[in-house]
Amino acid sequence: MASRELLDDVLAIRWPQPHRPEDDEAPGHLPGTAVADAWKLRSAFLQRLEAATAEHSPDCDPLLAALEELVATKKAADEQIRLLLAYGRVYVTPRPYTLETLGQAAGLTPSGVGRAFRSEEILTAGTLTGRRLAAVEIDDHHPDLFPGDASRRRCTWGGSKNNPCTDEPKYAVTDKSDTRWACCDSHLPGYLRSRPAPEPNGHSM
Ligand SMILES: [Zn+2]
Repeated sequence: MASRELLDDVLAIRWPQPHRPEDDEAPGHLPGTAVADAWKLRSAFLQRLEAATAEHSPDCDPLLAALEELVATKKAADEQIRLLLAYGRVYVTPRPYTLETLGQAAGLTPSGVGRAFRSEEILTAGTLTGRRLAAVEIDDHHPDLFPGDASRRRCTWGGSKNNPCTDEPKYAVTDKSDTRWACCDSHLPGYLRSRPAPEPNGHSM
């Protein structure tokens, strides 16, 4: 297939021209906003393709380039979804969004929402919004913080007595009785959710 044909076909799939009956009657009619926007995106894609062809290789493939762009868009959207879920669960106080509510909006099961974000997303959401976690004490893990037990070596906050978490501890977290525990990346969201909401009078801040 000639490369021009391939390019035209990719453009036709990626930015299909909406059929409007009035076009038949009034050729030369000004395109609607949606059509104009699609046209802009299409032109931008062509420009990027031209630039890539000039820079890298003369046979830059429009089909592969379109796929790569869509995957990048999808990844960025997934990342934003994870950040919004983390924000809604951890930073919205005093009543965080429920797993059910968030799941319905995000097309996930309630347990899927719980698994959708980890400590990384929680911390990023906090950085982006400038929100601080209330009534939470988290430090970087260091063996010296613990008086010589399992917490020096592994995550002791997660897991159970019979089925301990063996992951590498990354944080030192403090529970309601001021006892310090070692916590791994995957158990930090659980720790954060277990914290009480801040008192409205600032008592617990
Ligand atoms: Zn753990």
